[in-house]
Amino acid sequence: MVKVKKCSFCSYDVPIGRGITYVKKDGTIYNFCTKKCKKALLNYKKNPRKTRWTGVYGKE
Ligand SMILES: [Zn+2]
Repeated sequence: MVKVKKCSFCSYDVPIGRGITYVKKDGTIYNFCTKKCKKALLNYKKNPRKTRWTGVYGKE
């Protein structure tokens, strides 16, 4: 069984039962570790690869 999910924004592990699950109207499911990540993706439409505090910053 999977015990962790990956944050849809920063790509860090999110333990099951922690963090925020967000379902878009079209059925796309996002998992976020914090509200900060949720806002960054949904409100500000940031690119995690260009956001310094994410796990994928600077990666292709
Ligand atoms: Zn995150």
